[in-house]
Amino acid sequence: MNFIDLRSDTVTQPTPEMRQAMAQAPVGDDVYGEDPTVNRLQELAASMTGKEAGLFVPSGTMGNLSAILAHCGRGDEVIMGAQAHTFLYEGGGISALGGVHSHQVQEQPDGSLAFEDLTAAIRPDDAHQPPTRLIEIENTHNRCGGTYQTPEYMRRLGEFAHERGILVHLDGARIFNAAVAQGVDVKELTGPVDSLTFCLSKGLSAPVGSVVCGTREFVRRAHRIRKQVGGGMRQAGILAAAGIVALEKMVSRLGEDHARARKLAAGLREVRGLRLGEGHPATNMVFFDLAEEVPMSAKDVAEKMKARGVLVGVTGARRFRLVTHCWIDDAGVEQAVAAFRDVLAA
Ligand SMILES: *Cc1c(COP(=O)(O)O)cnc(C)c1O
Repeated sequence: MNFIDLRSDTVTQPTPEMRQAMAQAPVGDDVYGEDPTVNRLQELAASMTGKEAGLFVPSGTMGNLSAILAHCGRGDEVIMGAQAHTFLYEGGGISALGGVHSHQVQEQPDGSLAFEDLTAAIRPDDAHQPPTRLIEIENTHNRCGGTYQTPEYMRRLGEFAHERGILVHLDGARIFNAAVAQGVDVKELTGPVDSLTFCLSKGLSAPVGSVVCGTREFVRRAHRIRKQVGGGMRQAGILAAAGIVALEKMVSRLGEDHARARKLAAGLREVRGLRLGEGHPATNMVFFDLAEEVPMSAKDVAEKMKARGVLVGVTGARRFRLVTHCWIDDAGVEQAVAAFRDVLAA
């Protein structure tokens, strides 16, 4: 069966153009810095995000790990959201491998970190307490519903941190979704931060990889950490070639995924037994709950959806996450809504 797979935008497969670029990519040993395609991807990523340098890494997790360890020493503290991907889903790597202490602040419903909460979380200069070195912001925010932060918020966050001698790292796994959703150049979101990670392998549809960007000096340190954790890859240009196509061809079409997410949400809102929050999905994610009267769990419903050819994400006992991406077309959205209607009517 050909499934309509709405579990995540990570399920996207390389496009035919990517496969062709991969087959033809000039490559070299990237541990020697000699892979021209990796170098091209890193330069392109840096120039698009307005940074001096970029570093190709196998995953967003390694990107955030390398960046945070490049900024923080053992015993330093990083402030991040309590729902942050780095806090919840990266294996505690910053602590296990870098001895970095994390300090959670509850996000606002839109995924932002409130300045009064950040102010309260910053440590005084006191030998009893770990020094606050870094703030991490997630944009778009996955667990908060694919919400985005504005250029204005990013600018204020950068100023707030820098005035206090603190750095900012952006977990921008889906930063291009945030830019496209607001119709702004991504540099308006990345300009105020010291470093960022973004993923090529989500909505941008490349098979593997993320890029970390920042100053040359920062990237030099992140590069050393990438090597320490085994992320030095050899003829990685085969992968980077798809990343170049992702950046050149796939960014401008992300708006289609957002439009389909809105269409999906509008359809699901009409299905009896589902509860969607007010407002439209901000980007490509639709979160919703099962109504109290439905005598099934989200897992039960997901199984019945699967039997109807639709894969959905379950993020709680009664909660779902559906993500649109370039392999979901209008017919797929309609089929998913129809399948939910069918399952919940049964
Ligand atoms: C996907 C994701 C990452 C990185 O995940 P990998 O699977 O390691 O590539 C980081 N942050 C956020 C918000 C993500 O959604």
